[in-house]
Amino acid sequence: VRFERMECEVLVIGSGPGGATTACMLAEQGMDVILLEEGSNHSVDSAPSYSLAEMNQKYRNGGLTPALGRTKVTYIEGRCVGGASEINAALYHRPLATTLKEWQLRFQIDDFDPAGMDRWFDEVEAEIGVAPQPNGVGPASELLKKGARKLGWKTTEIQRFWQYQKQKDGTVQGRRRSMSETMIPRAVAAGCRLLPDSRVVRLQMDGPTARSATAIRQPVGGEATRLDLRFQHVFVCGGAVQTPALLRRSGLKQNIGDSLRMHPMIRIAARFDDAFNDPSWGVPVEQVEEFKPRMTLGCSHSSLPHIALWLAGEVEGKLDRLEQWQNIAVFYVAVTGTGTGSVRNLPGFTDPLVRYPLTDEDLAMLGEGLDKLGHLVFEAGAREIYSPVDGLAPVTHPRGLAQYRTGLPTRGVNVTTIHLFSSVPMGQDPRRCAADSWGQLHGVKNVWVNDSALLPDTPGVNPQGTVLAIARRNASHFLERRGA
Ligand SMILES: Cc1cc2nc3c(=O)[nH]c(=O)nc-3n(C[C@H](O)[C@H](O)[C@H](O)COP(=O)(O)OP(=O)(O)OC[C@H]3O[C@@H](n4cnc5c(N)ncnc54)[C@H](O)[C@@H]3O)c2cc1C
Repeated sequence: VRFERMECEVLVIGSGPGGATTACMLAEQGMDVILLEEGSNHSVDSAPSYSLAEMNQKYRNGGLTPALGRTKVTYIEGRCVGGASEINAALYHRPLATTLKEWQLRFQIDDFDPAGMDRWFDEVEAEIGVAPQPNGVGPASELLKKGARKLGWKTTEIQRFWQYQKQKDGTVQGRRRSMSETMIPRAVAAGCRLLPDSRVVRLQMDGPTARSATAIRQPVGGEATRLDLRFQHVFVCGGAVQTPALLRRSGLKQNIGDSLRMHPMIRIAARFDDAFNDPSWGVPVEQVEEFKPRMTLGCSHSSLPHIALWLAGEVEGKLDRLEQWQNIAVFYVAVTGTGTGSVRNLPGFTDPLVRYPLTDEDLAMLGEGLDKLGHLVFEAGAREIYSPVDGLAPVTHPRGLAQYRTGLPTRGVNVTTIHLFSSVPMGQDPRRCAADSWGQLHGVKNVWVNDSALLPDTPGVNPQGTVLAIARRNASHFLERRGA
């Protein structure tokens, strides 16, 4: 193993929305920044969206990792330059003002008034760019709208981090506004050094001060280099699972990795009479507003491999159904989980052990959501719904949905999550917060967190917008305080 020593003013660990924003803002103010990323540096169109090649390039563990508990919840993390912004559905939301107000009061977060936060969301929208789809919402979203309308529920089109441009031939081409397309090239242009394929193993602490970081740089098929990184300040932005794992490996444990929160999700596949499904529409953008922030109903990307994945394993005649995949779409329910999970390291293992006890309330909400979603898709014309519970036969009539309302079993339910938070919660309340109102770890001189781990609770909406806005606010505060 080769050895290399590097120095910088600020080390940023992880290049997802939190880390990329931090590195860009600090570099553009003239600071000497290194942005270190465990995953590789791929262009945004290096692999087709939702393909196996993309999963191998840009996902941690090639896709799903299990969180342990009575009911297993599988979670998905990005691992590449740009983090999950490179692979996600890119749906953009501002959180409700009531959610921010509640966080401000409950976690004692200074200067976190919802009206004051508008400035940071305005900046996110202006600097990264969000837009509605230019040619309508697509066939699967139209079905969601139809079913919701019949039930008297409101739906809206959710804007995405996407940019559309009219071509010479009159067609419109869209491009993802991920971190590798926005904040990271800006950071690099401002002098930030980007180091992909480099995983930080731990921070070396000297009392309350972090002195250096040890990392291993190993490009795919290349030689390993051990990096000794010296800095004045370090921002840990590895996401809600990896950030607490790294801090705990470094001996920093106070309120860290004890309060993981999430939005658990459950999906159904539904078959209709007509062949409407056209995956070239990409991610369906319509959501039911009626039950937010507690519960969101929507439609997922529905390519053939996805339908195969979400058809419950037990469905009889599954292959025959798959022949009709263009008559099928996948729909989801996401709820604001009420459980509190943990992140711990196990000796000898690279990946941390993640526990999340899906509560009875979570299961009841998911069951209630499935019942609602089932009614919606039947109203939209569905003939058959494939259950996310192992062993349950397809539902062919709304009457069959009652089995969900009376509660889901604790085992054999296919629950996933793509929204994780709160493992290093921010705020002045020392009993439950790990970092202060600006992301600096309590009791530590030069370690900040600036990613989804800081959100003190579930936002109840797609979170990337909130992660970006809070990261901007905190990076700006860091720069102001340094200038003072
Ligand atoms: C499949 C999927 C779909 C989603 N869809 C949406 C959506 O439509 N809208 C929305 O708002 N949100 C969505 N999200 C959630 C959103 O992407 C995340 O909330 C957001 O990316 C979190 O940003 P982050 O900066 O906290 O971390 P991440 O995006 O997770 O980035 C962290 C980065 O740090 C790196 N890292 C971790 N540990 C280390 C280490 N020790 N050393 C070096 N590097 C390290 C990781 O490799 C990773 O690249 C989705 C997420 C997924 C996975």
